[in-house]
Amino acid sequence: KVTEHIAHANGKPLFSFEILPPLKGQSIQNLFSDIEPLMEFKPKFIDVTYHREEYVYKKRENGLLEKSVTRKRPGTVGICAALQHRFGVDAVPHLICGGFTKEETENALIDLHFLGIDNVLVLRGDPIKTEGSFCPEPGGHAYATDLLQHVANMNKGIYLDEDLEHPAPTNFCIGVAGYPEKHFEAPSLKADFKYLKMKADLGAEYIVTQMFFDNQKYFEFVKKCREVGITIPIIPGLKPITTMRQLTVLPSIFHIDLPDDLVEEVEKCKDNKAVKQVGIEWGIQQSKELIEFGVPCLHYYSMSKSDAVRQIAAEVF
Ligand code: FAD
Repeated sequence: KVTEHIAHANGKPLFSFEILPPLKGQSIQNLFSDIEPLMEFKPKFIDVTYHREEYVYKKRENGLLEKSVTRKRPGTVGICAALQHRFGVDAVPHLICGGFTKEETENALIDLHFLGIDNVLVLRGDPIKTEGSFCPEPGGHAYATDLLQHVANMNKGIYLDEDLEHPAPTNFCIGVAGYPEKHFEAPSLKADFKYLKMKADLGAEYIVTQMFFDNQKYFEFVKKCREVGITIPIIPGLKPITTMRQLTVLPSIFHIDLPDDLVEEVEKCKDNKAVKQVGIEWGIQQSKELIEFGVPCLHYYSMSKSDAVRQIAAEVF
């Protein structure tokens, strides 16, 4: 369990990272080759994201609308099992509310439990492009708090079907997301903290933060969490900038701010090779300062392109 890894580290920061499942039809070998160089730094756990299908409705000749899936990244559960088997590292599958009924979620949790995967990061999921704002699946969960309650119930042997004979409890360590720069839909920081506290009270055992590029945002977030009574470990999430385009893409997708100094350094770069170098230097400085602060773990968003993370880890771990 993630929390057991943290407890056994005796204050030494852990190394972990997040990967994306390959797009449908692509090989898992590419993913393994990308992960391999990071094994040198002995990650204690690897997160695997979950992706809802993106789809559009196309009009058929008979005038009826047909659902057409445009983008798929299936395989989260299978990749988690494969990672544990191949690398002997604990996998943390992400579970999302969007696109799933409660029964489908419960069945996925049963699969994970049988596969010996004892961690989950529970999330609501983002709206897909065809939704203006997030729409829960009919018969599915609406918030991470609902999904969290579901997993916490299964950990007590309470399943959706009430008439099961001697239901066996699952054994999941439950992580949740936190936003040092506020979740984009929350009307205020105060409202966002109210729900984060609710997640901790419902049984979340640790928080992983959204990416941030200014450590001060993380320090303030931790302080505020402690003030409202959230005592669980708060793992900082870090993303090395690697392309010029990310200067606009990251703030618009992840609703985060980039510090002026970083933007200026990136804007001076002649090509993406130079940008990647700036991103690596920034990541090393951020990581070193966070270690000094006493973080339990440094968690990197590798986005399945591990080289920048490898170069940072080589300087930090
Ligand atoms: P919630 O905690 O449900 O919060 C959503 C909004 O509702 C917030 O504004 C919150 O303040 C409010 N709120 C929370 N609970 C309640 C409640 N009970 N009643 C009323 N309001 C409430 N997305 C994916 O699709 N796949 C992934 O694999 C994935 N991995 C991620 C990993 C990390 C570390 C992070 C930080 C994000 C990840 N995301 C992923 C994105 C995430 O799904 C989005 O940020 C999503 O918009 C919110 O998810 P959440 O779990 O924080 O939602």
